[in-house]
Amino acid sequence: MAKISINLATGSLQKEEIIVGIDLGTTNSLVAFIDPDKQPKVINDAGKGVLVPSIVHFGTAGEITVGNDAKNFLITDPQNTIFSVKRLLGRSYQDIANYKDFFSYKVIDDNSESLVKIKVGDQFYTPIELSGLILKELKERAEHALKTPVNRAVITVPAYFNDSQRQATRDAGKLAGLDVLRIVNEPTAASLAYGIGLNPEETKTIAVYDLGGGTFDVSILQIQNGIFEVLATNGDTFLGGDDFDRAILDYWIDTNQLKRDVLLQNYELAQQLRLKAEEAKISFTHQSLFNEHIGDIWCTIDRNTFETLILPKVKQTIECCKNALQDANIDISQIDEVVMVGGSTRTGLVKKMVSEFFGRQVHDEVNPDEVVALGAAIQADVLAGNRSDILLLDVTPLSLGIETMGGLMDVIIPRNSKVPTKAGRQYTTSIDGQVNMKIAVYQGERDLIKENRKLAEFDLKGIPSMPAGFPKVDINFLLNADGILKIQAMELRSGVKQEVEVKPTYGITDDQVEQMLLDSITHAKDDVAQRMLIEARTEGEQMVYTVERFIEKNNNWLSVSEIAETATYLQTLKAALTTGDKDLIHKSIEEVNEFTRPFAERLMDHAIGHAMKGKSVE
Ligand code: ADP
Ligand code: MG
Repeated sequence: MAKISINLATGSLQKEEIIVGIDLGTTNSLVAFIDPDKQPKVINDAGKGVLVPSIVHFGTAGEITVGNDAKNFLITDPQNTIFSVKRLLGRSYQDIANYKDFFSYKVIDDNSESLVKIKVGDQFYTPIELSGLILKELKERAEHALKTPVNRAVITVPAYFNDSQRQATRDAGKLAGLDVLRIVNEPTAASLAYGIGLNPEETKTIAVYDLGGGTFDVSILQIQNGIFEVLATNGDTFLGGDDFDRAILDYWIDTNQLKRDVLLQNYELAQQLRLKAEEAKISFTHQSLFNEHIGDIWCTIDRNTFETLILPKVKQTIECCKNALQDANIDISQIDEVVMVGGSTRTGLVKKMVSEFFGRQVHDEVNPDEVVALGAAIQADVLAGNRSDILLLDVTPLSLGIETMGGLMDVIIPRNSKVPTKAGRQYTTSIDGQVNMKIAVYQGERDLIKENRKLAEFDLKGIPSMPAGFPKVDINFLLNADGILKIQAMELRSGVKQEVEVKPTYGITDDQVEQMLLDSITHAKDDVAQRMLIEARTEGEQMVYTVERFIEKNNNWLSVSEIAETATYLQTLKAALTTGDKDLIHKSIEEVNEFTRPFAERLMDHAIGHAMKGKSVE
């Protein structure tokens, strides 16, 4: 196993190249690096501010604005202003159906388990592309401020992010032209910023309390030999600083005797008041009375009143802390440190209650909205091998994965994962009655398997005949400390299974590994574009297949004109599939969906829904 670190120009190891740490947040994002004095520092490009609001605006002429400038469009052009995209990253429509009203922009409801898309004008964007735009802005700010190209990064994600959300984050980085060295948990990064976990000899149990703009989470971590293990996470994905603002706004509505429904119709005034409320909240860090007005509306509130208003919300977070401790099977007395993360932990009451609950002083010395990015920069520095005090653990130099529909690489163990490691994912079939599944294992960073290196191929045989989308095939990768990769495939309904073993490093030189990494960086953008086109095509082909089967099976339930019209829509979709235009394909899929959805509902038959399930191997 190798510790890879390459120079883009020469392919050789270069330590001077800056690797940045990025906190890609729901509300705010930022980037940090290690300065020449070996200190982590956040980047403030040309005084634009450290925090970049995670907001993207699309103008009518196709111009794209990210960050502070985009924030203003939340008021004037909400349909074309995308905020909170992190909530959608790696999610399917099913995952977010319960809170779809939260978004003021159009999230496509294609009633399936495929990943969500967002419609702006007649363009379709994936959350990956949108996050990619935010990351690109951060990359450019870093390059501008540091006056050097920035090509490599460590990006943080919440500890509770699943595999698909992590992969989506990697892909977003790739789209932004960043080589993502590692995805790190936010609480881990925050601990590193406090120096916790940097000493391989220490063993500690810590709690990381993260209250951001719209989300809350608490993690219990165990640190041993420099390895962070997440014992439990808990939280509420709709609890954060926004709720504090809303509490103040509601208070002003009452004190000014405003009519709520009248105010809500005046969107601009409502937003103005909301921003004023945030200003008031922030002012309580250094003053105890806020007293301003917007026209004849008085925006007056004192800190005591504010604290009374938010008390129930803060209590709720404490409940989550209790639950996390319980899930981790840890007693409060066993917690060695408590780390505060997120802008909202600046609120005095929050600090007070958290520290009372844990019965100890909490860490709040580092700026809570910068602490994650600073820690990510430290992690980047460690990975670059720049810190002689810290031993680099063995990592796998190239990603390991399998081939999925359309010849795409689906990564199961990402590169730079610590070894030993195990990971797995569930797949399904794409054709009715499919009894064999070909499993082809590859290593490499490219999106198309044909550009990667094949390690093994085998057939999982004897899957009982079922409709497409029904079999559940678990594929597990186990990479042991000797670098042997064990691949196990098992169909869960029947229990049929098959196993093979390979040694990924066998027959490949360090130079070849470096070349593969280099190629993946040069081709990153084309690769992601191709992947998205192939994914759109696969989704479209599946759609044609299922709808045709559906019509065939249920033709006596449908009218002649319904059948004829469906055929026309399918014809349009088939024509779109022959083009290289992913937006056109998505648009046609959407149309078939819109038209056929009532049939499925009418027939109470979920064949369409089922067939769209999960990713399919060929
Ligand atoms: P996220 O991690 O969700 O992207 P942040 O950690 O950047 O979010 O936190 C943003 C939240 O922090 C906002 O609700 C903002 O109003 C709040 N915030 C920032 N400064 C303060 C402050 N001084 N007092 C209270 N809340 C603050
Ligand atoms: Mg955050």
